Amino acid sequence: MTEPRKRVLLAKPRGYCAGVDRAVQTVEEALKLYGAPVYVRKQIVHNKHVVSTLEARGAIFVEENYEVPEGSTVVFSAHGVAPEVHEQARERNLKAIDATCPLVTKVHHEAKRFAAEDYDILLIGHEGHEEVIGTSGEAPAHIQLVDGPDDVENVVVRDPSKVVWLSQTTLSVDETMETVARLKTRLPLLQSPPSDDICYATSNRQHVIKEIAPDCDVVIVVGSTNSSNSVRLVEVALGAGARAGHLVDYAAEIQDEWLAGATTVGVSSGASVPDELVMEVLAHLAERGFGEVTEYTTAEERLTFSLPQELRRDMKAAAAARAAG
Ligand code: SF4
Repeated sequence: MTEPRKRVLLAKPRGYCAGVDRAVQTVEEALKLYGAPVYVRKQIVHNKHVVSTLEARGAIFVEENYEVPEGSTVVFSAHGVAPEVHEQARERNLKAIDATCPLVTKVHHEAKRFAAEDYDILLIGHEGHEEVIGTSGEAPAHIQLVDGPDDVENVVVRDPSKVVWLSQTTLSVDETMETVARLKTRLPLLQSPPSDDICYATSNRQHVIKEIAPDCDVVIVVGSTNSSNSVRLVEVALGAGARAGHLVDYAAEIQDEWLAGATTVGVSSGASVPDELVMEVLAHLAERGFGEVTEYTTAEERLTFSLPQELRRDMKAAAAARAAG
């Protein structure tokens, strides 16, 4: 009897998004420019491998500004911070470099604008996530969190004709739409954000995994458990028909029993995952007979963001000093 054909469907787009790429480069360039150590408040991006690689180069990760020695350089993570975090940095005389993704900053601007117009803002997101804490900090008196469709019944607003919803950038597109639909049954005049808050990278990665999931016996997503967009990819794959789905940080975490009886394995990765980790997963699968890899592409991504202004300014000054000296 011939062995059934074993194959991998590799999702594209996957892995690094423009915001993560920029945040990681920010820490790398800061280390080159100012020398180690460079302090980073929170994980720069939610990925174990990225964090440990930067630690090896001299980055020191802290939870809060008070852990950073006065006068040192601190980088704020891609997920964004509340205004009070900038104030704390000023009080401690820290040199702050803000690596907040510009697409998160866009949501902060929306929150500030609607708060200034005295709207009640319903922020759809996950309680305790750094991005939600940062966005809520822009207008705490106006923002209330809606943590999924089941939280809709707890919403209380002052004026039902002056309410807008915003969202975390890394949510499940479908679940968010379900939350919005339920909100609208309670609040028919609810306004939508001026443009999508769920970012292009999150929705592109979910779209492609949905396309391949129905053909997959198992989907393996490379990403860390605290990475919202990576966790969502596994959920979306399962919701779209994958028979099983697993999140792994490294290839070595893949268990042989996940592959038992499988003929098609889907592979993707979250927006904070370098592609070398996906290549290691493919090598691991090839050793187990899944050597045929077909890349399935639903979008090309070309977006890039320039480094934070404060870092570019110092890089330019250093280059000018070198040229003069
Ligand atoms: S996932 Fe989206 S919002 Fe988050 S860093 Fe990447 S591009 Fe920015």
